[in-house]
Parts: sequence; C-alpha cells; structure tokens
Amino acid sequence: MKYTSSRGKCSSITAAEAIKMGISPDGGLFVPDFVPKISELDWRKMAGQTYQERACEILAYYLQDFSSEEIKNCVNGAYNAQSFDDERIAPLVRIAEGVYIQELWHGPTSAFKDMALQLLPYLLVASAEKTGEEDEIVILVATSGDTGKAALEGFKDIDRVKIMVFYPQDGVSEVQKRQMITQTGNNVFVAAVEGNFDDAQNGVKKIFADQSFIATLAQHRMKMSSANSINWGRLLPQIVYYVSAYIDLQVSGQLKSGEAINVAVPTGNFGNILAAYYAGQMGVPINRLICASNANNVLTEFIRTGAYDRNRTFAKTLSPSMDILISSNLERLLYEITGHDATAISDWMEELKTEGKYQVDHTTIDKIGNLFWADFSSDEETQQTIRNTWEEDRYLLDTHTAVARNVYDKYVMNTGDKTPTIIASTASPFKFGKSVAEAILKPELIEGHDEFAILKILSEYTGITIPAGIRDLDQRTVLHNTVSAKEAMGETVLEYLHLHR
Ligand SMILES: *Cc1c(COP(=O)(O)O)cnc(C)c1O
Repeated sequence: MKYTSSRGKCSSITAAEAIKMGISPDGGLFVPDFVPKISELDWRKMAGQTYQERACEILAYYLQDFSSEEIKNCVNGAYNAQSFDDERIAPLVRIAEGVYIQELWHGPTSAFKDMALQLLPYLLVASAEKTGEEDEIVILVATSGDTGKAALEGFKDIDRVKIMVFYPQDGVSEVQKRQMITQTGNNVFVAAVEGNFDDAQNGVKKIFADQSFIATLAQHRMKMSSANSINWGRLLPQIVYYVSAYIDLQVSGQLKSGEAINVAVPTGNFGNILAAYYAGQMGVPINRLICASNANNVLTEFIRTGAYDRNRTFAKTLSPSMDILISSNLERLLYEITGHDATAISDWMEELKTEGKYQVDHTTIDKIGNLFWADFSSDEETQQTIRNTWEEDRYLLDTHTAVARNVYDKYVMNTGDKTPTIIASTASPFKFGKSVAEAILKPELIEGHDEFAILKILSEYTGITIPAGIRDLDQRTVLHNTVSAKEAMGETVLEYLHLHR
C-alpha cells in the first residue's frame, strides 16, 4: 500500500515516509491509495485475540513496508500494563439497553489521545530508521490541553527525539497545566506562551515555515516534525479500537453475527470519527456515524447542508478539547467520499483558506448524509446529561463524552433507531472533574475548594478512584516554568536546543 496527498500534488510514498513527514508538502493530508477489507480469516483469528494482537493485524494492512516483528514491537511498547490501567486497553461498558461506552482513557494522561500518542513515537522512530534518517527529530506541539500532555508522555526518553510543547498561559485547566509542568523525561521541554491557543499555534506554524530556522537546525543535524492529529500515524491506531469493540460485542454474544452498530463520537478535529469511518470501510458493519459537537457546531451544519463555514464566533465551552472551528481531518473524508477527487478538495481547501468557507456539491453531501448524522449539545444540555446518566445509569461521564450521549439521545428521539450503539468516551471524568462535579454535586459541597480538592470530593461522593496520572498532581515537583512571549517562541526553542542562528 502506498500513500498520496489528498490534494494530489505529491508522488506516492511508503507508510514510513508518510509518518515521518506528517503533512504533505502541497498542504494536503496523506491518505492510503485504497482502504483494505478485513479478510474472513482475520475476522475469525481476531475473535480469539487480545487488543494488542488485533492491533498488529489491523496495522499490518496499512504498514506494508513494516515487518510483523517491527509492528509487534511498536504495539507492545505502546499498549502495556505500565502505561494502561486496564488490561483490556479500551474496555466496553454497557450503560443501558443497547448502549455501550468505550472507555478510551485508560492511558497515562486519562484522555483518548493516548491511544494514538502512545503508539506514534514507536511508529515514528521505526519510520525514521526505515527511511535512513540520520538527523535528530524535534517535535513541536502547540496544545490547548490534552494533546500536549499525551505527546509528552509518548515521546519522553525516546532516543534521538526531542519534544517541545507550548501551551497558552491562561488557556488550559489547572489539571492540564499541572500535568504538563510536572512532566519528567530527559528530552522534554514545556513552556507557557503569553497569549491564547491561537497565539501558541501561530507561533509554532511560523517556526515550521521559518527557512533560516530550518537551516540552523539542519546544520546541527536536526529536523522538525509534528505530533499533530493530521499525521497518518495518529489516525491509524484509532481504527483499531473500533474494530476491536465490534469483535468484543460479537464474542460476548451481545451482537448477532454480522449485526450492524451505530457509533457516536464527540468530535473536534474529526480525527476520532474518521477512524470509525475507516473501520466501517474495512468491514465493520456500521449503520450510522453520529457526529456530536458542542456550541462550536460547524460540523453539524456541514453534515446537514454541505456548507462548511468557519466565520462565526468561537465559543469557550465545558468541552474545551472540541472547541475547534477548522476540523482538519474532514479533508480525508472528502477525499474518500468523492472517489479521490484531489482537484475538488484543493479548490474547497483554498476557499476555506481565503474565505473561511466552502460548499460541496449535492452528490457529495448526499453520500455523507447517508452515513453520518449530526447534532450538537449546549453546555446546559451537557451538564444535564452528566446528571441524568449518573442518576439513571450510575455511570459518570466527562463533559466531552456527555456531548456524545446527548446527541445520541437526540438521534434516537428523531429517528427511533434502536441499533446497538457504541459511544466513544474520550476522557476520564476526573480530567474535567470541576465541571463534572458542578453537574452532579450540590454547590455548597464544592464552593471555596480548589480543583484538586474538588477531585477528591467527587471521588468520595461517587466511589470512583481518581486515575493515577491525575492523583497527587498538586504534590508533584514543578519542573518547567519557562514563559515565552509569543513573538519569541523561536528563540525559546533555540535556547533549549543550545543553538544560535
Ligand atoms: C481531542 C479530543 C476530542 C476530539 O477528538 P477529535 O479527534 O479531534 O475529533 C474529544 N474529546 C477529548 C477529551 C479530546 O481530548
């Protein structure tokens, strides 16, 4: 299998090259030249396998330039008992008749980003070796919270890689900030940026485009790369858990042979739900993909009308990891749906860049409408859903997963469809514990307490243990206190690398 750019102006390359490069030079995303179908033999084989073994089977379809030994080393390095606190890795919990929650947050940072970012470093190092790369790799990340910490945990102490994370000084939660500034590892660097997330992201983009900066790095045998969700190496690990969940439901007898499912996903950058789409194309019988948004509901409108329009006010919500107006991975879906029409994609993406909006044709949006269903949840509805799910099902949802549950409920109300449904749960409730506590506890129980005290109160009240990666965060040593002006991020990077222009 080879990879090409969704915008068609890049020759086809191997998986290793696509993972190493991250984004195509023509601005497009790397896409596989076909989507493989899981063979009958592999379906039967995977029924008796562990999560890790299933991951090897699925990855092998896409990483044809990797040996099975290499894939196995990557997978076992990523998904093991040191990093994940549940041996099933991505367990399913039945919360109501035909409603299953897939918990994707048993990794080190308690968010689903770990599912991909625990594996990506292994894939990247193997890809670098395979392509004869001799330079050291410097990963730069701008984060609004979850990606930064998950990337730090994934890349810490990896040979010949350095990882640098920039977060907005006042734009992340106390838990998220603490998770990052207490990060250990001999190759990690974390800095706050005086500004908001856009400032941090623009700063990183500028560094990536700065030719004199790139030249300085090259003189010292260093090269930049990205751990951002547009890298194919981040999407691929996510296909695995949807396939695995389907097999789990078959094996446990909760689904009849070949019976279809719906999948509901709390969506931001469109990466997680796109992975479910690929799982469907590979042969998982999916009836509907339910795309759940918060007040930043660009995708709801797009899936309903075919008009993508980012010209609207950005809302700060209780589900901050979905506060996004440009869903980059949608480009890959359009590529698949249009039958690889790179010209149409290039035109739409150009319109998005210059006018902030584009409109796809009828055929395309009809096809999307046959597969997807979309709606959004306001903050009030999200809190109400956390409360109801706790009271009725005794299950504690985080704010992002609650968006998906809320939209799933609306779907059932609108369509009457009772197909068994998997809801992707993207974070532990303790990662966004303050908002969760406010949804289910009386105000007087939490008033006047800081975020860490509130987590303890929430844990005592619900009887649910706080995940190890969040517990005692307030007592860990702060190791990173660099603050960078937004104009000086490049200099901050050079200082950390001990380089001069
Ligand atoms: C990143 C994130 C999302 C959104 O996932 P996408 O792949 O960007 O759609 C949802 N929930 C949580 C907790 C996240 O960290």
